[in-house]
Amino acid sequence: MKKIIVAIDGFSGCGKSTMAKELAREAGYVYVDTGAMYRAVSLFCIQNGWMSDSEINSEALEAHISSILIEFRTNEKGISETYLNGKNIENEIRTLEVANGASRVSTLGFVRRELVHQQQLMGNKKGIVMDGRDIGTVVFPTAELKIFLTASPETRAQRRFDEMVEKGEEVNYEDVLANVIERDDRDQNRAESPLRKADDAIEIDNSNLTRAEQREILRTLFAEKTLQ
Ligand code: C5P
Repeated sequence: MKKIIVAIDGFSGCGKSTMAKELAREAGYVYVDTGAMYRAVSLFCIQNGWMSDSEINSEALEAHISSILIEFRTNEKGISETYLNGKNIENEIRTLEVANGASRVSTLGFVRRELVHQQQLMGNKKGIVMDGRDIGTVVFPTAELKIFLTASPETRAQRRFDEMVEKGEEVNYEDVLANVIERDDRDQNRAESPLRKADDAIEIDNSNLTRAEQREILRTLFAEKTLQ
């Protein structure tokens, strides 16, 4: 069976990572969560005091960008976790504060160039499922299978809210929805690699799809590309 690159792009909270992880597991492919890489850079800025509500110390960040080592290691349960300079940051990067910062650092050209370069190295042997915002357009424009996943902002906010409540976090739905809308806007309107569907990507709106239905659609598309 031919090994391919699968690029999954779309808005925040569409369930890209769930979809990508499942496919990677079934296919025996490597899964890369590029959002976690932007979140790691955001956390790095916060830890160093380089991010306030109004600005990012981009000079300090640029001077240190090449010393940021982001890795994915698989834990004993077989789940991939994010590491920043050797430290497990998987839980720390899932907060609203870090997500907001990620959306801000991701507008900086030098951050994108560095992370895109690292992502391209990860995919050079194919057999990879990568999710993000610019995978089908910038990171792997020649990926064999490109998916553009969408869902309404309200559906996505509700899902994220449920996830956070399940983790015991104190949040309110209106804040989560406002955050989703703000991040969509920033993702679509930034000058550097704005979020957009690649011309050859297949769009799937999963607002009204069950997990099983979505899985089936993806399986079929994947089989078509790998059995060709
Ligand atoms: O997907 P996730 O919500 O973890 O991504 C965090 C932030 O990183 C997004 O809001 C987006 O702005 C940014 N991002 C990006 N390009 C990617 C992946 C994520 O700009 N390939």
